[in-house]
Amino acid sequence: MNKREFTVADEYIYNRRSPLRWIWSHILRYPLMPIAIFLGNIGTSGLYSLGTVLTGIAFDMILAPDTDWSQLLWLSLATMGAFSGVGIIDLAKLAFVELLAQRMERDAREELYISLLGKSQTFHNRQRVGDVMARATNDVQQLNLMISPGISLIFESALFTLVPLIAIAYVHLDLLLVPLLFLASFAWALRRYNDELNPVTGALREQFGVTNARLAEAISGIEVVKGYAQEMKERQIFGLNARRYRDLFVQEGWVKARYLPLLFFGVAFGLAFAHALALFLGGVLSVGDVISYMGLIGVLRFPTFISLFSFSLVQLGIAGAERILDLIKAESELDENADGLARPIAGEITFENVTFDYDGEPILKRISFHARPGETIAIVGQTGAGKSTLTRLVNRTYDVREGRVLIDGIDVRDYSLQSLRSQISTIEQDIFLFSRTLAENIAFGAAGAATRDQIEQAAREAHAHDFIMKFPDGYDTVVGERGVTLSGGQRQRIAISRAFLTDPRILILDDSTSAIDSATEDQIQRAMRRILHGRTTLLITHRISQIRWADRILVLRQGELVAQGSHDELMASSEAYRRIFARYTADEDSAARDVALAPAQQA
Ligand code: ADP
Repeated sequence: MNKREFTVADEYIYNRRSPLRWIWSHILRYPLMPIAIFLGNIGTSGLYSLGTVLTGIAFDMILAPDTDWSQLLWLSLATMGAFSGVGIIDLAKLAFVELLAQRMERDAREELYISLLGKSQTFHNRQRVGDVMARATNDVQQLNLMISPGISLIFESALFTLVPLIAIAYVHLDLLLVPLLFLASFAWALRRYNDELNPVTGALREQFGVTNARLAEAISGIEVVKGYAQEMKERQIFGLNARRYRDLFVQEGWVKARYLPLLFFGVAFGLAFAHALALFLGGVLSVGDVISYMGLIGVLRFPTFISLFSFSLVQLGIAGAERILDLIKAESELDENADGLARPIAGEITFENVTFDYDGEPILKRISFHARPGETIAIVGQTGAGKSTLTRLVNRTYDVREGRVLIDGIDVRDYSLQSLRSQISTIEQDIFLFSRTLAENIAFGAAGAATRDQIEQAAREAHAHDFIMKFPDGYDTVVGERGVTLSGGQRQRIAISRAFLTDPRILILDDSTSAIDSATEDQIQRAMRRILHGRTTLLITHRISQIRWADRILVLRQGELVAQGSHDELMASSEAYRRIFARYTADEDSAARDVALAPAQQA
């Protein structure tokens, strides 16, 4: 079993050892469906063959010197019954097939989504969103098409081959000669066809993912694309990808065009007729036998013709299944430790000789420090020193490589991930808001349990209430995409509201890049000051004012903790701190000058 950060209790367990087994286990989730479909196919093919044989018998009756007309009437009624039976059973069978296909699509999509939610941050960093989307939409849909009409047609084809053969044997055993020869050549040609088609369909799915990923990237990064006037380049790359996709399609078309079984069928049909006539002339067969036989041979055209589509649908489905399964099975680094400790924490943080890297290059080296519950620890250092990385180890966005991170004296890995993360809030520099209402955004961490009053209360504490009320829709204002765009300061206050509502014991506040630029700056500072109160806080900051809030300051340089202590202690003892502090002061002075020159900017 893979490591996962998220599971649901009643998840259905599928066999994931190979794409075929996986597909099969999805089908077997509804065991009655394949049985019903199978019986339906037996019914339709049996009744169809019966109708054809009855037609032949009717011919013999008419040609006989003493035709029994009443018997012929019964025969024609029986023939009608057989053919209408085919229609009725077909209807029911198609309903089952469709139901199975839709359920399978839904189940696979759910399975994939749950698995994506359970993957580690490291995993998601590796993925390209567009490719994941292609798999989650297109490949999953391909599963649906594989069942309906793909597998359903193959099923039907098999029975529409087998049952007419039995009927032919019933007419006369010798007549099996041509159809069996035909089937042998059909099987050979089909195999060859599939071998040729397989790599092309795989490449086609792959290329679709690549094209989609690139497009998604260009669109989500549209600001950069436009800003650097790279539209032409993006267009060229898209054109190139689209061309590759088209070429593969054309290649697929070539393979399909060279489909031999239909040619074989034409030859077989002629041979069958010759054979039947020879037997007729030899007195072995009656006219009716010849007609039944030719009718039954005609039935074989259906599986021959339809296999051109059905097999490629199944190939595409399997290729899609493989890609979905790759994603579901991809190694994830973190485990949710569902049975771990789940209890309220006080908020004591200890780093013991912590070493960490993302991909080999050490980013944090033997870091040790201690924060008592409620303390504010400021982290300072140059960009890239590892400040954000350090804070991400607390809520296990990543796990340490060496050493330990302890909360209340217990290794973070011993907590249940859900319990741990629900008691730690992070306010990042880059605040992500969902395209939902402001109220929903604020209540995000409270899992829908917050009332409107609580949401408003949190927003008031974060000094967000006033600007929210200025929007015509207030708390129901939709953010992003088709809604309003918020400024950095507003986003920050929404994030602070979010944190007030979840009321975490540990707070991580990454305030390193927000510019000192506005009239509402003061409100944000006050909101921050208030949210820190009574919580253990790791505060990444460049601001002198905020550094003064801290009980202790950690000075990071290239992943090493070079000094820690209070502001005064560090000023006295640490050369590195004095340098950083001098630079921050210079930054603030120049920022203050900028503000003075551009006074009317709104937060
Ligand atoms: P700071 O917050 O001090 O600016 P960071 O912790 O963001 O520093 O980054 C420290 C180093 O880790 C940088 O060299 C950065 O390139 C690298 N880094 C940050 N995030 C990742 C990531 N997700 N994958 C790989 N390297 C990363």
